[in-house]
Amino acid sequence: MSRPRVVVAGLGDSGLLTAVDLARHAEVVGVSSKPGLVSGQELGLRLARPDDWARDYWTPFDRYRRLDGVRTLHGTLTALDLEASRVAVALPDGSTATEPYDALVVATGVTNGFWRRPHLQTDAEVAADLRAAHERLARSATIAVVGGGAAAVGSALNLAVRWPDKRVRLCFPRERALPQHHPRVWGHLRRRLLDAGVDLRPGHRALLPDDAVPDRITDGPLEWTTGQPPLPADAVVWAVGRVRPNTGWLPPALLDEDGFVRVLPTLQLPGHPDVFAVGDVAATDPLRSSARNRADRLVAANVRAHLAGRALGTFRPPRSRWGSVVGPQPDGLQVFAPSGHPFRFPAWSVSRVLRPWIVRRGIYGGVRG
Ligand SMILES: Cc1cc2nc3c(=O)[nH]c(=O)nc-3n(C[C@H](O)[C@H](O)[C@H](O)COP(=O)(O)OP(=O)(O)OC[C@H]3O[C@@H](n4cnc5c(N)ncnc54)[C@H](O)[C@@H]3O)c2cc1C
Repeated sequence: MSRPRVVVAGLGDSGLLTAVDLARHAEVVGVSSKPGLVSGQELGLRLARPDDWARDYWTPFDRYRRLDGVRTLHGTLTALDLEASRVAVALPDGSTATEPYDALVVATGVTNGFWRRPHLQTDAEVAADLRAAHERLARSATIAVVGGGAAAVGSALNLAVRWPDKRVRLCFPRERALPQHHPRVWGHLRRRLLDAGVDLRPGHRALLPDDAVPDRITDGPLEWTTGQPPLPADAVVWAVGRVRPNTGWLPPALLDEDGFVRVLPTLQLPGHPDVFAVGDVAATDPLRSSARNRADRLVAANVRAHLAGRALGTFRPPRSRWGSVVGPQPDGLQVFAPSGHPFRFPAWSVSRVLRPWIVRRGIYGGVRG
């Protein structure tokens, strides 16, 4: 009997893990506009130390052992035909491929600022983007990071640690940053930012040029809707959230009012039991936290259960954000629990245990090279 065919739409952090989880159980086709996993994680590390970031967060698909049996298709999803159970993919040569499925997993993520965009890219284009952002900041004496979430806080810290002689300012609209984390997390990171010499500017809400989040690092000065005088800066890193779901290729009836994919606790789409969504694109909970809560395992198990006619499991999100905020640092990797309590993996354990054994072997099932 032929194996069921599963199409994974988007091979970012969640889609890739879903494909890895399903590879031994189904014929899997993964569609991605990027030539490998180009993770949306750790913006600060990516800007400050792009080579270190690339080692851990940008990996060609052929290096994942568990993807050996998966067909990866480099292209852009343009349409979903629910009646015919197939997706259309625009290929780099201008032609269109049609991929039928027995089950579809939507994992096309979100667009966020200048570093997470869904357009088709080659390896050379990904490398050029990384280099250009780093070099732009390297030649700037004053850098303003705008935003109060994890990407902004992680950027300010990593830039200040990488270049102690630059003036790095973190401008955020409320009294404290990281409002979606437990308050303890900001308590820890505020001290860490001040120790690194970051100039904190609470109560500063920036005026967005043309009322849109810029898709690049811009020049200063910054202007404020909160009344402060304009702030000069050689470079402005916009990390203000306002993410937009990559769902333009889906029928609007599948989406909520903000354009995210509506899902049941089983991660199935209401009325379409053969279509699932996971990751930042899926409206699972207010924080849309299924990526960091490893719901790839649940969605893979539920796809198999659906295809076999078995009962499906459900997604239960925690109430606060958790995880790392500033990424690996010289003194190790600090991770915050949902309660806001930190725990630290010492630096030696990150390179000798966490990365090779827990992440590469345990999570991805083996990564070559
Ligand atoms: C193991 C793990 C650990 C994590 N740890 C943390 C943590 O410590 N702290 C934290 O805050 N968060 C953490 N996260 C979460 C992370 O910040 C994001 O939530 C995650 O990167 C989102 O993944 P995604 O697959 O939904 O989106 P993405 O990684 O953005 O993937 C979407 C992909 O789809 C592609 N795409 C989009 N549209 C199309 C199209 N039309 N056609 C083809 N391709 C398209 C995009 O180019 C992209 O490659 C973690 C996630 C994972 C998996």
